[in-house]
Amino acid sequence: FCSQAPIRATLFPGDGIGPEIADSVKEVFNAADVPIEWEEHYVGTEIDPRTQSFLTWESLESVRRNRVGLKGPMATPIGKGHRSLNLTLRKELNLYANVRPCYSLPGYKTRYDDVDLITIRENTEGEYSGLEHQVVRGVVESLKIITRQASLRVAEYAFHYAKTHGRQRVSAIHKANIMQKTDGLFLKCCREVAEKYPEITYEEVVIDNCCMMLVKNPALFDVLVMPNLYGDIISDLCAGLIGGLGLTPSCNIGEGGIALAEAVHGSAPDIAGKNLANPTALLLSSVMMLRHLNLTDKATRIQDAIINTIAEGKYRTADLGGSSTTSEFTKAICDHL
Ligand code: NAD
Repeated sequence: FCSQAPIRATLFPGDGIGPEIADSVKEVFNAADVPIEWEEHYVGTEIDPRTQSFLTWESLESVRRNRVGLKGPMATPIGKGHRSLNLTLRKELNLYANVRPCYSLPGYKTRYDDVDLITIRENTEGEYSGLEHQVVRGVVESLKIITRQASLRVAEYAFHYAKTHGRQRVSAIHKANIMQKTDGLFLKCCREVAEKYPEITYEEVVIDNCCMMLVKNPALFDVLVMPNLYGDIISDLCAGLIGGLGLTPSCNIGEGGIALAEAVHGSAPDIAGKNLANPTALLLSSVMMLRHLNLTDKATRIQDAIINTIAEGKYRTADLGGSSTTSEFTKAICDHL
């Protein structure tokens, strides 16, 4: 018996392994009696002229209305005349910060046991502004856009996150020694925000040094905030520290409190449709969504069941060295619940 009225949330199962791992989330939510009613939306087969993308206007409206959702991976269709699905979502819903927690899973041995960090990636501009052109034959230009508004917004989010999640330190990751204007402005904004949070230690780390420090001793870091491309690369590096892309969740935060959680990985076409995918990353993303909705008890129960299943070691998917299928692993999590 569930006493709470259901909360509507948008679900994009996505492409490739997406529908298989989305089924896993639905099964686990049923087993845990989570009061969520999914509104499912699929990537269209034709370009919607209103979005210039294979994502329909109705699916974007669904997220705007529900203000919360879960997204499986979406393969980027090759060809001209449409926008990337992920970029469409980020731009249309103004998903300005991508939050990726990365922590060692107890019972799953990697080189490190003590990773516990959060990368916060600026999600709307930087090198992903999509402004590329040929100047003359053999010479192309790509514009990296950094604005004060977007930098302040993501820095504010990072410090607020640190404060509200009991974190002690925020590191701004940059290459301002070379990109003095763009990364320089990003750092200036981070410093401004840091002054409002005297209880949080603030530091600046050059990206190349940051990579070296991360692989040598990831425990040196707490919350990291950075421009778009650095965030893309650093968060995959962090995924590698704890066991790979099958394990790492994320959540996109938008204007007005929209939250769209998603696994960090792509559609994994090499294993799609074979019942081999590890659903952990999407499941842990759904846990982030539940925490955003303050459904803390459900979130903790599901997270514990996932961690205990992996730690027990009886049921693990192939990416973690096991031989279980997606459905066997999912059933084991439900049994742990
Ligand atoms: P990928 O993340 O799909 O796959 C990389 C490798 O990791 C593959 O070997 C894959 O089998 C493995 N892998 C990924 N997720 C796994 C899981 N849950 N369980 C077990 N193994 C897993 O990256 P790719 O091959 O470069 O990209 C494939 C497609 O996905 C492309 O079209 C790309 O544009 C898209 N993509 C989408 C997103 C997104 O929707 N956010 C992110 C990255 C890539």
